[in-house]
Amino acid sequence: MIKIPLDKIIERIKNEKGVSEAEINEKIEKKLTQLSGLISKEGAAHIIANEYGVKLFENVQGKMKIENILSGMRSVETVGKVQRVFELREFDTGQRKGKVANFIIGDETGTIRIVLWNDQAEKINELSEGAIVRISGAYVRENQGRKELHLNERSKITLNPEGESIGEVKQFTTTRKDIKELQENDSNVEILGTVVQVYDLRFFEICPECNKRARLKDENTFACDQHGTVTPKYSYVLNFFIDDGTENIRSVCFRNQADRLLNLSEEEVLTLRENPEKLQQIKDGLLGNIVKLVGRVTKNQMFDRLEFMTQLVFPNPNPEEEVKRLNEEIQEIKNEV
Ligand SMILES: [Zn+2]
Repeated sequence: MIKIPLDKIIERIKNEKGVSEAEINEKIEKKLTQLSGLISKEGAAHIIANEYGVKLFENVQGKMKIENILSGMRSVETVGKVQRVFELREFDTGQRKGKVANFIIGDETGTIRIVLWNDQAEKINELSEGAIVRISGAYVRENQGRKELHLNERSKITLNPEGESIGEVKQFTTTRKDIKELQENDSNVEILGTVVQVYDLRFFEICPECNKRARLKDENTFACDQHGTVTPKYSYVLNFFIDDGTENIRSVCFRNQADRLLNLSEEEVLTLRENPEKLQQIKDGLLGNIVKLVGRVTKNQMFDRLEFMTQLVFPNPNPEEEVKRLNEEIQEIKNEV
């Protein structure tokens, strides 16, 4: 199923039908009340778009700009300029051996990670920063809240395709906000606050090949949607509250970011599964720390509250940089006055 973010649906209706955002939101709220508990806000927005006659899935054929690539899409074609190339990695899970490589491309609308598997992975050696590539027949997977384009045997990658050029690549930029200003669907926002409460580190099973969640099939057997029965590895998520004096928010850090926050390696974190005392010590040590988080804001429907999905954590934000930012903000206010 293709996932279109709520703000994108609203934008489409607004642009195509010329109705105000307030009017669209009102209709969505009404639909939610009507079907109370049966659908999500996105689901309600889909119905409203349909009622307005806006086709959300039209024009998914052909070349797409990166910002329009959505989770769940298959057979995606896009063109971008290579931003970063990572090293080829080989894996051996005992059951399967393979290779995986990834790189990042960008266009005028954003950037996205491209993941190459097995024979395709060798192509990473032909890529260099600044080269233009065309990707076709790729599918979109979501990894820790970020979209990735994966290539399989039928997908194509073309280096320096004829007649294609890319303007200035839109880089990742963040906006600093107070926690009380945060709104559902805010993305690339930065918050700075004190860790005031830490919950347990939760461990869960993942596929050793693609790192996606592995589901319990039957007693003691785990399966991945793509790779079938697997012997799972473990991943983890850390939940905590941070407070910046204006409000507090529950924040979520997945594996890599949890490692950064705890200042531990993956192996060290995994040993905490069997060491609750050490875990308690580490959790206590986090309390009172000042951290900077970059990420996006989601609504937890079940508890009707906002949560911060961390994409990048800075466990020791540089005080000089923060003072500089504060000075710049004061300067801006002075200029406005
Ligand atoms: Zn898998």
